[in-house]
Amino acid sequence: MQVLQGIAVSPGVAIGEAVIIDQEGFRIPQRFVKRDAVDAELDRLKSAIESVATGIAKNRDTVSEQLGEKYGAIFAAHLQMLRDDRLNQEFGRLIRERHYTPEYAVSRTLRRYAKVFLDLDSTYHQERAHDIFDIEKSLLRDLLGRRREELSHLSSPVVVLAHNLTPSETANLNRQFVLGFVTEIGGALGHTAIVAKGMEIPAVVGIGEFLTDVSGGEFVIVDGDQGRVILQPDEETLARYRHELEEHKTHIASLESLRDLPADTLDGERIKLTANIEFPQEVKSCNDRGADGVGLYRTEFLYLGSEEEPTEEDHFQAYAEVVQAMDGRSTVIRTLDLGADKMGHATPSKEEHNPFLGLRSIRLSLKNVSLFRTQLRAILRASALGTVRLMFPLISTLDELRKAKMVLKDAMEDLDEQGVAYDKNISVGMMVEVPSAVVMIDQFVKEVDFISIGTNDLAQYALAVDRSNKEVSHLFQAVDPAVLRLINTSIQAAQQAGIPASVCGQMSSTPAYAMVLLGLGIRHVSVTPIALPEIKKLCRNVTIEQCAQIAQRALAMDNALEIDTFLQEELRRAIPVTVPHLPRT
Ligand code: PEP
Ligand code: MG
Repeated sequence: MQVLQGIAVSPGVAIGEAVIIDQEGFRIPQRFVKRDAVDAELDRLKSAIESVATGIAKNRDTVSEQLGEKYGAIFAAHLQMLRDDRLNQEFGRLIRERHYTPEYAVSRTLRRYAKVFLDLDSTYHQERAHDIFDIEKSLLRDLLGRRREELSHLSSPVVVLAHNLTPSETANLNRQFVLGFVTEIGGALGHTAIVAKGMEIPAVVGIGEFLTDVSGGEFVIVDGDQGRVILQPDEETLARYRHELEEHKTHIASLESLRDLPADTLDGERIKLTANIEFPQEVKSCNDRGADGVGLYRTEFLYLGSEEEPTEEDHFQAYAEVVQAMDGRSTVIRTLDLGADKMGHATPSKEEHNPFLGLRSIRLSLKNVSLFRTQLRAILRASALGTVRLMFPLISTLDELRKAKMVLKDAMEDLDEQGVAYDKNISVGMMVEVPSAVVMIDQFVKEVDFISIGTNDLAQYALAVDRSNKEVSHLFQAVDPAVLRLINTSIQAAQQAGIPASVCGQMSSTPAYAMVLLGLGIRHVSVTPIALPEIKKLCRNVTIEQCAQIAQRALAMDNALEIDTFLQEELRRAIPVTVPHLPRT
């Protein structure tokens, strides 16, 4: 048994067989063979080794001829390794005695060999490890042949282990079969994490190198609450986690009783509790958990989930589905927030040196006005079907906001000319997620109908921490005193201007932090659907007076650790039994 620690990004526990996705997307579909199939499997391995050896020999000859013997020797070494008696005996033994499939025997053995080299501290040995991975790949490619499956074509429940999953790969995971996933890289608030949470797939990221320690088909436990991954768990651990899974289900069931109750505080203040979604399909889980509406619809996922550039009709269909399902409750549709870690067709073609400071979000929309207009037309059309609010992301200057509003005005005029219906009084708001917007917030609030504070980006830019970079993600603190002050300033400016302010960053899904937000004057929080019951429970167990006092004390503290510890303590006091199923941000 091996216990690995990573970053908890999507709560819940998953227990299942591992599927390892490397760059080539191989997976080992099955670990064991039937006793009577052993001979046939040994033959299959023998012919795979022969065919790979022929390929390597061919490479050796071609390279020797064109570049010289020295280069050809690289392949000669591969060939020698592949034909190594000890190695072949080990493959054979695992198939004969343990009834492993050739794929599993090959992968397990070669990864074990590679690990020995990787652990040696020299470049030479690291290179040898890569040679072994190369051989593993060649053998698997040959053995799996047609059986190589794509992630999207899974047919049985699995836990996906990968070096990295992009947000779009995550978006395309088949929820029916992917029980959980683990990646070697990634941070707590990257968009892969957000999608995982949206899809309610337990996930741990940022484990560091571990794929060499595990083979496809082995049992893995993903503890998305604690950020823990357990390889080859023993029986006792398995039993404990199975029990926890059951308990978790019971806890969720107990929160269900809150579904139809309002998120009123003990002193009778109504808190608007809406959900953040990425896909129209998520409205079901919002409705199932009694959301007051959709407070953030991240429309860029329409781009990330498809191969083709979405048309106006594609946009409209997606928005219409959400707006109609909300049935009178409001939907805040945010215009495209592509770029940085959310790459799609419209994103910069050249690799950017500093993508988080580059052509992303509203900047990208303003550069591609026709794409922006297509989306705005679809949002406006959807506004005829229910209560829609439109929101611009990552606004950093007044000029940017004004330009975005100009494009919106043009789109409205076009629809007027064409006689297409839309809500002429549609509320137009902006996200406050760049520190410059907070500095100028007294001006901004005169030009928008509402603001929504995006604490993920606000903290990222205020603290200069890339939220998806494992090396620095621990420095990301939503309750850093600097961030709390920025939030406070924004809320006060909105109050003075008489416009609503909400918080839609991940911070609002964290009960202890939501208390501070209420105390600072927030009356609308938008959270991941899975957090709706927990945050509702919090609202119903605190008074505004109590939260205000907590917020004032937190504001007076000078470091994030102290604030976090204080808030966790206050939460325990307010709600003695909270199940820690939501990761802190
Ligand atoms: C945020 O930055 O807080 C936010 C809600 O936007 P996103 O996470 O989509 O960047
Ligand atoms: Mg953001």
